[in-house]
Amino acid sequence: MEAYQLLIDLHKNADRQGPGGDEETEKALSLAGIDRTTPLKIADIGCGTGASTLLLARLLNARITAVDFLQEFLEVLERRAESQGLSGKITPLCCSMDKLPFENGEFDVIWSEGAIYNIGFEKGVTDWYRYLKPGGMLIVSEITWITASRPSELQKYWEGEYPEIDMPSSKIGVLEKSGYSPLGYFVLPEHCWLDNYYRPMQARFEDFLDRNGNSEEARAIVDAENREIELYEKYKAHYSYGVYIARKLDHGNP
Ligand code: SAM
Repeated sequence: MEAYQLLIDLHKNADRQGPGGDEETEKALSLAGIDRTTPLKIADIGCGTGASTLLLARLLNARITAVDFLQEFLEVLERRAESQGLSGKITPLCCSMDKLPFENGEFDVIWSEGAIYNIGFEKGVTDWYRYLKPGGMLIVSEITWITASRPSELQKYWEGEYPEIDMPSSKIGVLEKSGYSPLGYFVLPEHCWLDNYYRPMQARFEDFLDRNGNSEEARAIVDAENREIELYEKYKAHYSYGVYIARKLDHGNP
């Protein structure tokens, strides 16, 4: 099996494919001042199997376009939506986040958890700007340094994985120069990483390796995930996901 298919196999039966939590999703909604009764049109970009999509659908009076470029994840999301009676509120869209077929000003809210790094934060917030209505809300999580300096082992690792990793002030600066007014920022707490993401993933490793004949490729994936987890456990004081909440200015720049 190709590495890509193996990654899908490891992650598709998980509740979430990245750090986050229901409480934190609700916190972001409240910082954005989103009213639960107003009809809203939302895009959840890089939705995976729908951790945030399903919660937003449950909490809000919203129609949500759930975007991911992996059809396998969207199929799981559709099944979950159906079993929770939420299908009518969610439209899955298999598409890359840098080739979105949306109209200008189509959405009240753009939501993206743990996914914008795939095209880079600056490109993502700049490209997606046009799809928001004036006054619309962008809510996006992004890997972020939370200390001004950090050990070189960690710095090297993350600069290899994602060179755009930076301090919150610089992410907020990117939002400001891209035509948004930042309204809030908070850091995902440890339980979002360990209890909600890494521990459930570790519990799937044994079955994953069995299913895939303990192949070298499957073992390489488990090793890479374990390395990421080890680094998190060692250096979690230095980085997390930042959740950024920003409003599109009525007469923003771009
Ligand atoms: N938001 C989900 C969550 O928090 O559980 C998923 C986060 S996961 C770390 C990143 C997601 O982005 C994956 O579902 C992946 O398939 C999707 N993705 C990666 N590159 C993409 C792209 N270019 N276009 C659309 N989706 C992409």
